[in-house]
Amino acid sequence: MLETGAILRIRYVVCTEGPDRVRELIAIGASFDHGEDGNLHLVREGGHSHRRIFHAADMTEKEIESALLKSVVNKTNIFVFEHHFAIDILTCQDGSDITCVGIDTLNTETLEVVRFLSKVTWLASGGAGHIYPKTTNSLVATGDGIAMAHRPQAVISNME
Ligand SMILES: Cc1cc2nc3c(=O)[nH]c(=O)nc-3n(C[C@H](O)[C@H](O)[C@H](O)COP(=O)(O)OP(=O)(O)OC[C@H]3O[C@@H](n4cnc5c(N)ncnc54)[C@H](O)[C@@H]3O)c2cc1C
Repeated sequence: MLETGAILRIRYVVCTEGPDRVRELIAIGASFDHGEDGNLHLVREGGHSHRRIFHAADMTEKEIESALLKSVVNKTNIFVFEHHFAIDILTCQDGSDITCVGIDTLNTETLEVVRFLSKVTWLASGGAGHIYPKTTNSLVATGDGIAMAHRPQAVISNME
C-alpha cells in the first residue's frame, strides 16, 4: 500500500504540474472541449466536489494518445517498431548481480523473433487487471510485462 507521504506527493505533483502538462499536450496538437466562455470545459468525475477534469467529448484518451503518437513519429531520435510483442527481457548475471541488457520481441506480422540490445530498458506494458475473473480493464492488462520483470527477480511493488 502507498504510504500517506507518497499519496500526498502524488497529489501535490498532479495539482502543481498538471496544468503545464495539459498545456504541453495542447501544444503538440491535442484538442479539448471548450465552454461558452472560451476556457477549457471542466467536468466532475466520481467523488469530485469541484469541476477539474478537462475532456475531448467522451474520447479524451484517444485524443491524448493520437497527439502523443503523432509527436513521437515526428522525432528523428525515436524509432517505432509496430507489431513487435515483447516476449522476455534479456539478462546477464555476474554473481548475484542481474543486469537487463535488452528484450526479445515477436514480430507478429512476420512471426520472427527480433532481439533489441540496450543499456536501458523501460517496461510500460500496463497493469494486471485481467488476472481477476471480472475487470473493466482493457484486454491488454494481462500483467505480462510485470511477469517478465519478475522472472529475473526485479523488485515489484505496489501491486495492489
Ligand atoms: C474503464 C477505464 C476507464 C479509465 N478512465 C480513466 C480516466 O478517465 N482518467 C485517467 O486518468 N485514467 C483512466 N483510466 C486509467 C488509465 O487508463 C490507466 O491508468 C492507464 O491507461 C495506464 O497506462 P499504462 O501506460 O500504464 O498502460 P496501458 O495504457 O495499458 O498501456 C500498456 C501498453 O502496453 C502494451 N503491451 C502490453 N504487453 C505488451 C508486450 N508484451 N509487448 C508489447 N506491448 C505490450 C499494451 O498493448 C498497451 O498498449 C481508466 C481505466 C479504465 C480501465
